[in-house]
Amino acid sequence: MTLPFHRCMTGDALPMIESTFPPSREMALARLAQFVPGAGRRYEQGRNTDAGPDQPSAVSRLSAYLRYRLITEHEVIAQVLAHHTLRDAEKFVQEVLWRTYWKGWLELRPSVWRRFLDERDRQQEDFPAGHAIITAEKGQTGIEGFDDWARELVETGYLHNHARMWFASIWIFTLRLPWALGADFFLRHLIDADTASNTLSWRWVAGLQTVGKTYLATTDNIARHTNGRFAPKGLAREAVALTEAPIGAIRGLAEQACLDPARPSALLLTHEDMHAESAFADAQKFSAAIVAIDPGLLWGDGARRFAGDAGADIATRAASHFGCGTKRVGQFDAQTLITASQTAGVRQIVTPYAPVGPVADALAQLAPVLAREGIALTQMRRPWDSAFWPHATRGFFSFKERIPAILQERGLA
Ligand SMILES: Cc1cc2nc3c(=O)[nH]c(=O)nc-3n(C[C@H](O)[C@H](O)[C@H](O)COP(=O)(O)OP(=O)(O)OC[C@H]3O[C@@H](n4cnc5c(N)ncnc54)[C@H](O)[C@@H]3O)c2cc1C
Repeated sequence: MTLPFHRCMTGDALPMIESTFPPSREMALARLAQFVPGAGRRYEQGRNTDAGPDQPSAVSRLSAYLRYRLITEHEVIAQVLAHHTLRDAEKFVQEVLWRTYWKGWLELRPSVWRRFLDERDRQQEDFPAGHAIITAEKGQTGIEGFDDWARELVETGYLHNHARMWFASIWIFTLRLPWALGADFFLRHLIDADTASNTLSWRWVAGLQTVGKTYLATTDNIARHTNGRFAPKGLAREAVALTEAPIGAIRGLAEQACLDPARPSALLLTHEDMHAESAFADAQKFSAAIVAIDPGLLWGDGARRFAGDAGADIATRAASHFGCGTKRVGQFDAQTLITASQTAGVRQIVTPYAPVGPVADALAQLAPVLAREGIALTQMRRPWDSAFWPHATRGFFSFKERIPAILQERGLA
């Protein structure tokens, strides 16, 4: 299958987004199959180059599919390692595991997400230069590259990793704009908008994540890795780390829940994990499946459109895999779930674990309300997350040391 990739800019954001990331597992698998032969040396050598939105690229552009788990980290790495040795594909495997690492890191320190939200709200109210934010978001600063990436983000819902780093660095250190408003701009436009990867990457550029270590975008680096498309002048020459109050102690991961197979259950699917087939044991039975993609729990129109359309795809797959009736709902509230459970005659709702973010917050609020109606809400964490997340206690360097052993334990290397 030949995949629609980045086409010319149309100026019409949503159709462009649809053509960039067709929202189905089938398209994700096809994109993965196309990418796998280049996951070794080609990726390692070309991954830092951003040749432009309509140009071939060495990167996979799988992020939207991985973020919503239309495909999983496990299967992406399994397919790559079926074609390459771990040594040859080490860079790509590590990049995929950056995603796992960030999720684990935030899961152990959920207050950092809350801190971001508070900081964003405070800066939205207090920041005196609203005009400067609008100018930056519209790509009207006059800074070569930066303005193009601002427009590319809004038009396509995607930016190359290096462009995200340059953009965040210029936002914080050249334009001296509040980092949390830049992170919010990304959340509102990225299709792969993700609590952990986005917040912690912005913190990393700002020098908050690895305390004191910042990322400085330079003219030479941008010119080299954009094949000379951009060579912005007047960039900050130094990046002085931002500071903050110390982060509290790490919390432990919640115990893995045990499913009572004898208890009739309904499956609840949200945009946090869209491949239910691999989230549960093959023998697991469900009396009904509820696909709840709530637009209010996503930030931007592109992400809402992607997740909403993918909802149709997961409903069809869940019905065929689990052999049960499937209902799609657009709200994520207690009454909807109680009614759906009563209709299906179940007293247990099972859902793939939702990591730190709006869905997890919604589930935490719903659980006691459902419990009062005699309905248990059980979140099941994937073995992948249980294996990796506990090691996200320090920096990526120490996490990375564990990767080969954990992949081996999981039969992947
Ligand atoms: C400021 C900033 C904000 C970001 N915000 C997000 C976000 O909201 N959502 C998101 O998914 N990624 C985010 N990233 C990480 C990264 O830029 C994207 O995942 C990557 O560009 C996606 O392109 P790709 O699929 O072609 O990546 P590839 O290079 O092909 O990598 C394969 C996969 O590995 C993972 N990955 C690669 N690099 C990273 C990374 N640095 N951090 C975490 N995971 C990574 C992604 O799942 C990606 O799909 C951000 C990075 C920065 C610097």
